[in-house]
Amino acid sequence: MIKEVELAVSPEDAENDNQIRRQILNVLRVPAAALTGFRLLKRSVDARSRYPVFRMKFRVFVNEPVQHNTDWLPDYKEAGRKSVIIVGFGPAGMFAALRLLEAGIKPIVLERGNDVRERRKDLRAIQQFDTVNPDSNYCFGEGGAGAYSDGKLYTRSDKRGNLKKVLNVLVGHGASEDILVDAHPHIGSNKLPGVVQSIRETIIQHGGSVQFNNRVTGFILSGKKMTGVRTQDGKELIAEAVILATGHSARDIFYLLDESHIRIESKPFALGVRIEHPQELIDQIQYHCPGKRHPNLPAANYSLVHQVEGRGVYSFCMCPGGIIIPAATAPGEIVVNGMSMSRRDSKYANSGMVVAVDEADWSSFEKHGVFAGLEFQKSVEKNSFQAANQTQKAPAQRMTDFLDGKISSTLPKSSYIPGHTSADLIQVLPGEVTKRLKEGLRFFGESVKGYLTSDALLVATESRTSSPIRIPRNPETCEHPEVTGLYPCGEGAGYAGGIVSAAMDGERCAEAFLVKTGQPD
Ligand SMILES: Cc1cc2nc3c(=O)[nH]c(=O)nc-3n(C[C@H](O)[C@H](O)[C@H](O)COP(=O)(O)OP(=O)(O)OC[C@H]3O[C@@H](n4cnc5c(N)ncnc54)[C@H](O)[C@@H]3O)c2cc1C
Repeated sequence: MIKEVELAVSPEDAENDNQIRRQILNVLRVPAAALTGFRLLKRSVDARSRYPVFRMKFRVFVNEPVQHNTDWLPDYKEAGRKSVIIVGFGPAGMFAALRLLEAGIKPIVLERGNDVRERRKDLRAIQQFDTVNPDSNYCFGEGGAGAYSDGKLYTRSDKRGNLKKVLNVLVGHGASEDILVDAHPHIGSNKLPGVVQSIRETIIQHGGSVQFNNRVTGFILSGKKMTGVRTQDGKELIAEAVILATGHSARDIFYLLDESHIRIESKPFALGVRIEHPQELIDQIQYHCPGKRHPNLPAANYSLVHQVEGRGVYSFCMCPGGIIIPAATAPGEIVVNGMSMSRRDSKYANSGMVVAVDEADWSSFEKHGVFAGLEFQKSVEKNSFQAANQTQKAPAQRMTDFLDGKISSTLPKSSYIPGHTSADLIQVLPGEVTKRLKEGLRFFGESVKGYLTSDALLVATESRTSSPIRIPRNPETCEHPEVTGLYPCGEGAGYAGGIVSAAMDGERCAEAFLVKTGQPD
């Protein structure tokens, strides 16, 4: 007999298989000898009551051999003669390439940044020397913005694709099997590079090509059909189609599309700050504990949302036990974001806290047409850089000082390595954003006791929450409505927001190409 059993397990017993076994036997009321084994299917933390518990779901085997699922990867074929160009090797590009190989189509991946190991040097250069390499940074390079990200694999858009397959493929390339059971799976930025490298090796082993330091600088069109691309070294590459998966920060690609008379559209996004608290404080709030959390409990997180004057103010990409990082993609700007290691063991908890922005906010940038929102985004990032005396020492203010309208005389310790410049964030961010941020923070302070504190630091600016541009595409064929052979894909095109949804969108675009060209599955 195979059964599914749900248990509430205390943090003390969460890693104690004997105790879990006893609980299962209690539920099933079968002789101990009959219980041949159990496999964890789902795990989440339930901190609603005074004493947090793990909610765990098991597949239980009674008088049956235990079945383990180790068949993570689909069957990849040897690449044939037909090829598709994939621009960008983030999650969308990687999963598009893998999906094409399931049908034996050769992916030719062009990535502007370094491979995932070399890329570390570029990250160090921003952290330590304020030097931003515009081709290889926290957003650009092998693995895209996903490689040195937080690696949270949660998505609300799981109906848009095969979430389970994406997670299986990640496990098949080295991610922990925990991601298959956790309600909020997380890989961590120490583990992601290995997974990304292993995906590259799969692609190359099956005859695909992955080229680094090779930025796409032009599109080749034959009438209204995209047939290839031009690269920075002046070479021309021709293929059956082009999957454009360049992410939300590839501003040059948006300009290039416009210059090539390929329609793009402006879209709303969100803007604000990253907030950092001591992790212990967030643990105490969420787990109702006076001191340190139980060692078996994960670093606590939060998710906050409020409406202020018709716009959302919300926490974004919360990184418990994480660090704030400099995510600029060009010199002369400051962009912050967050990440964490798999153990989530830093002393800090950070999260974006952003306000929705739309064309009302960028009316003074009207002359830039479709790029008005993008230019507005740029201007805020430049403001932040100016406030930091043209360094990556991001402008920062204690939460209480921000609400009281005064510059902080001292700043609390922070995980952000380049350092901070004490500043009045009202001078850095647009007024429509700061007034809503203030009201949102006051509301969160009342509803989450302890959240509003002088120990919390606001760091500007969190501005790359999503793409300010959408590249239109036909919902059925995934091709640009006016240019066949062009598949706008992933977050930069406006069809994903996060690692998993970008990966699923990569699969979706590759699949749309396979359907159109009648390729065998
Ligand atoms: C620090 C940080 C933390 C994050 N944490 C999380 C998280 O925990 N969970 C989550 O779900 N999401 C997270 N995200 C967001 C997530 O990484 C993105 O949503 C996701 O990577 C988008 O995937 P993508 O493939 O569409 O684009 P990207 O990952 O942005 O990849 C685009 C790729 O295209 C390349 N490219 C751009 N222009 C060109 C060109 N002209 N020629 C060739 N190549 C080009 C870039 O170098 C890049 O590698 C985080 C992002 C950052 C920056």
